[in-house]
Formats: sequence, C-alpha cells, structure tokens
Amino acid sequence: MPAAFPSSDPAIPTAPLTAEMRDALRAIVGEKGLIEDEHGKRPFVTDWRGLLVGGAGAVVRPGSTEEVAKVVRLCHQHGIAIVPQGGNTGLMGGATPWPAHTGIVLSLGRMNRVLDVDPVGYTMTVEAGCVLQTLQETASRHDRFLPLSLGAQGSCMIGGNLSTNAGGVQVLRYGNARNLVLGLEVVLPSGEVWDGLRALKKDNTGYDLKHLFMGAEGTLGIITKAVLKLWPAPKDVCTAWLAIRDPRAALEILSEAHSASEDNVGSCELMSRAAVDMVLRHIPGTQDPLKADTPWYLLLEWSSARARQDGAEGMSEKMEQFLADQLEAGRVLDAVIAQTGNQSRNMWRIRESVAEASRAEGPGMSFDISVAISSIPEFIARGLEAALDILPTIRPYPLGHIGDGNLHFSFMGPSGMDQQTLAQYKGAITRAVNDLVTSLGGSISAEHGIGIDKLDELSHYRSKTELDIMRTIKRALDPQNIMNPGKVLRL
Ligand SMILES: Cc1cc2nc3c(=O)[nH]c(=O)nc-3n(C[C@H](O)[C@H](O)[C@H](O)COP(=O)(O)OP(=O)(O)OC[C@H]3O[C@@H](n4cnc5c(N)ncnc54)[C@H](O)[C@@H]3O)c2cc1C
Repeated sequence: MPAAFPSSDPAIPTAPLTAEMRDALRAIVGEKGLIEDEHGKRPFVTDWRGLLVGGAGAVVRPGSTEEVAKVVRLCHQHGIAIVPQGGNTGLMGGATPWPAHTGIVLSLGRMNRVLDVDPVGYTMTVEAGCVLQTLQETASRHDRFLPLSLGAQGSCMIGGNLSTNAGGVQVLRYGNARNLVLGLEVVLPSGEVWDGLRALKKDNTGYDLKHLFMGAEGTLGIITKAVLKLWPAPKDVCTAWLAIRDPRAALEILSEAHSASEDNVGSCELMSRAAVDMVLRHIPGTQDPLKADTPWYLLLEWSSARARQDGAEGMSEKMEQFLADQLEAGRVLDAVIAQTGNQSRNMWRIRESVAEASRAEGPGMSFDISVAISSIPEFIARGLEAALDILPTIRPYPLGHIGDGNLHFSFMGPSGMDQQTLAQYKGAITRAVNDLVTSLGGSISAEHGIGIDKLDELSHYRSKTELDIMRTIKRALDPQNIMNPGKVLRL
C-alpha cells in the first residue's frame, strides 16, 4: 500500500526512546501499558483507511490522568514527541505518527470510566477513552440523550471526538462536539494538569480555555476528562427516506420541515444514488428503502422528547402530512416512512456505512467541505463540472449533512484505476474544489479537521494573520513542539 504522506516531513523532534526512558515509562504505566513490539504497535501507527503507516518508539497506554501527566512530563524533559490517540478513526491522519516519529503514541483507551451521571443537572463526567456509543447507551439508561452521533461511534472515543470537534448527524439541532461540553481536564505539553472540569452553564471568567483544546487535534495538550451536556431522551421518533427532485429541493424541504415538525428536525442527510448503490454493493444486509428514478435522496428524521399520546397526532402523522404536501409541490418524488425499528436502522445503516463502503470500493478521494446552506446546489453543480473536466471518468458520489451546509464531496476512482495513478489527478482536483469552496466563502474542512492530509491546504487558504495567531498559541503552549508535531500547522 503506497504511503500517502505529504512529500516533506516537517521539523518534528526525533529524539529516540532510550533504554532508560523505556524503563521509566514502564515504571509509570506498568507492563500492560507499554507496547514495544512491531506487531503490537502496527494498529496504532496505521490510519483507519490503511493509507498511512507511520513509526513509533512505543505505544503507551496510561490508566489515569496522573499517569498521563507523568508520561508527558518525562517526554517534556527529554524532548520526546507524543501522538495522542483515541479510537484511531480520524480520517485526516491526525492520530497517525509520521514515519520519522521516534517518540510515543499515547493511547487513551484504558481511561474509559464514566465518573458521574447527573440526570437532574443533565450532565455526565467521563474519561477521554470512553467509546462514544457506550456514552450514548449510558445516557439512555438514565433516560437522557447524548446527541453526538457518527458512523464511527462504536470505536471512536470522546477525547478524539472533542479533539476533532466532530460533527455527525445531529449537528443541525444540537451543534457540533464543542457545543456539548461544559468542562475539560487537559494535560498540557509541560505535563501540568489544567483542571477545567466545571459543570457550569455560565462562566465568564476570562478566556474560555476549553475551546482552545477542542478542534486542536491533540497539538496543544491531551484531553483526559470532560463534562458533557445531556438532553431529554427522544420518545417519539419518525424516520423517512425520500426520493427528491434535486439538491435545491432538499433545501426547500428542510426549510419547510422546521415549522411542519414544530421544530423537531433531528437529522437531514443528503445522499446521491451513487453513494446508496456503493453501500448496497459492499455492506451485507443493507436493503434499498426505495427504488426511484432520481439521483438524489434525503434521510429525514424528526424526534420529540414528548411521548406520543393516544389519539393525538405524533411525529409520524405530522411527517405523513408533510410528505404529501411536498409530493404535491414536486420536491419529493416518492417517500417511505420507517414502520419498524429495523426499517429505520436499515436507513441509518446505509447513511453511516458510506465510509466503510468506500474503503471496500477501492481508490478514491473525498472533500469534507462546508458552504452557506443556500450555496450547496451551486457548489455541487460547479464542483462536479470542475472535477469531471480534469478526470472525466471519475465517479462522483456526493452526500452530506445538508442542514449544516456540510458536504462529503466524494469520488471513486475510474473503474480499474489504481491508487498511484489516481493520485496524479488529486492535486488538480483538490485545487479546483477548494478554490470553488473559497470563492463561495466556505471552509475546506467542515468536520474532519486538518491532521496531516490538509496541512498544505490550510496554509494555502488561511490568511497569514490567522496562521500567525495559531502558531503563536502553539509555541506558547508547546515551545518544544512535542505535542502531535507536524499536524494541523507547519511551524
Ligand atoms: C465510518 C466513519 C464515519 C465517520 N463519520 C464522521 C462524522 O459523521 N463526523 C465527523 O466529524 N467525523 C466522522 N468520522 C471521523 C472520526 O470518527 C472523528 O474524527 C472522530 O471524532 C475521531 O475520534 P477518535 O477517537 O477515533 O480519534 P483519533 O482518530 O484517535 O484522533 C483524532 C485526532 O484527535 C487527537 N486526539 C485523540 N484523542 C485525544 C485526546 N484525548 N486528547 C488530545 N488529542 C486527542 C489525535 O491526535 C488526532 O489528531 C468518521 C470516521 C469513520 C471511520
């Protein structure tokens, strides 16, 4: 598998782990917390897509904040680089060490305790290594709801979610990961612990430091604990799969859905027929909810915290009436409302399996972009034209969180083309797509972050002022550049 690292490595510290350092690390985390053999390290130095394989002197798995702090202090003293890692599902290479990395990968996986659930105050205090799905289930057992939801939820960890400021399928209503947080505990690159683990809704005491660490992709410190906000558990949920006229119709449907649902729209996901077909090809057990003659579909979900009352109109009845109106208006061509949990799960499985299906499909490229919601149809039309001009046989399968103005503008390589040949077109297509995004006032990374993949794109599109502010913050907190070096920013 060819390495997809950018050509020039940045100036990352390459101080090796000496035998004394290894002994010191073992003394902190114990034998089970230190992985030194190549086979054991392999999953931690390889990214989820299997495209990047980096290096590491060792993988260190601390079991507590105190252990994290001791490990970081030791690395700080010896100038050893650290790559923090959660579930290793990030799609930008942020959790993957560079090939020249001789330091450690610090995996948070053993720090997986839920420390407190406060259903009355609607909060939950957790360690960074808790798997997202476990936290959703914990909230649900207390009749509460943790809205963060994404395809990788069975393996991504909350520390990784916060460090990437993850998005997902509920942002429309609840905001992205940083909006779900009241407080954080962070181990700084010096090994000092910042205790910001407060459960306060209001706290105007100077700079709001927690927001520095969310979305920083582990370059400013290691998140070890968080206080998360919870919501009432949904009681009446209706999921529907719509064949629609075109992307503009999707926006009009969403715009009308807010009032028709009495402000209960939870998710609104746009899918192209090509994306649906790709999932049906590769993910066993998925079934096409609706065969219709259109390239565009919407997965629309409404949910209310109020239980459905006997005889009263619930979400399903409201949705039925709404879909009839939208059919009449010509925006919806056909639609099906899930009648069972299985049908709803099948719809969600199709949406959430796109990344996995694309991995099985073979070489491709994907752009995680955002523009103002109203610019989405123009972006899709012009973006497809630009990409097809460069490589007419490339196979687009756009999809996205349309209510957030966020598209995964994705392409399968032409049939039979290998990764290396496709890579020759990647630069030109990336430039065309990102120039278009920028001309529409959008962002080159909506929710996946920068990591290694978009390092050069960030420096190309962000202003000198913005890059300088980011570098100033990085140097102030991490003057030795040991914390996830060479990610997000070139110093
Ligand atoms: C199938 C699939 C679907 C996905 N869907 C979405 C989606 O809908 N929306 C979305 O936003 N993303 C999505 N992603 C991307 C990914 O799941 C998210 O970025 C997720 O938040 C990463 O969490 P993680 O625990 O796997 O982090 P990792 O991949 O381990 O790390 C991600 C970054 O955070 C840093 N980091 C990890 N833990 C910590 C910590 N405790 N402290 C400091 N830094 C840390 C790492 O160094 C790295 O830079 C998807 C990925 C897959 C594979």
